[in-house]
Amino acid sequence: MNEAWLEVVVATSNDHKVREIADLLRMEWIHLRAWGDFAPLPEVVEDGSTFAENALIKAHAAHAHTRLPALADDSGIEIDCLGGRPGIYSARFAGEAATDAENNAHMVRLLADHQPPYTARYRCVIAVTGLDGHKDHLFEGSCEGTLIVEPRGNNGFGYDPYFIPQGFDDTFAEMPLEIKQALSHRGAAVHKLAAYLKRLRG
Ligand code: IMP
Repeated sequence: MNEAWLEVVVATSNDHKVREIADLLRMEWIHLRAWGDFAPLPEVVEDGSTFAENALIKAHAAHAHTRLPALADDSGIEIDCLGGRPGIYSARFAGEAATDAENNAHMVRLLADHQPPYTARYRCVIAVTGLDGHKDHLFEGSCEGTLIVEPRGNNGFGYDPYFIPQGFDDTFAEMPLEIKQALSHRGAAVHKLAAYLKRLRG
């Protein structure tokens, strides 16, 4: 594949994810298109039972709707003392359409029944479809850390003000984006995706 540039639709309406992926995937020959550019958008039901299944559901829906190669990120946090919850339900931990603040408050309430340290990990699976003979590809990343119950920092999104990556003292929300990207689950997954795209380009 030797085109000067490749259009890929990013199948998410989460602006934070789009910004992080775009920042990590800066290759002059790739042009990322926002899912919102293709309105009216079909309803996509994320009813998979794993991050990988949900990422594939979103990537396939975006590819079917736009006919462009599509990538989708499904991600979340697994909290050990909560038996791995919320996992794939991280965006809706406190209920459908819950805000980050509601999800965080719900998490803090549940953690109160347990003893620190609250070990946890972020996980991310990126699915890509519509390239490479239309095969599906999955790229995974994770980031171990611990949770605190008093939020710190204003960067990032979701659970970031509560999440301290292993080996650091600051939360993701206290770090500049470039440091979060170097450590994060999404950074690790996009790094693998970038290597695949470079191989494909030849
Ligand atoms: P998804 O859009 O269904 O994949 O849900 C992702 C959810 O996981 C987000 O709404 C956040 O709650 C959480 N999450 C995933 N990645 C991050 C991150 O990098 N920082 C903070 N929260 C994250």
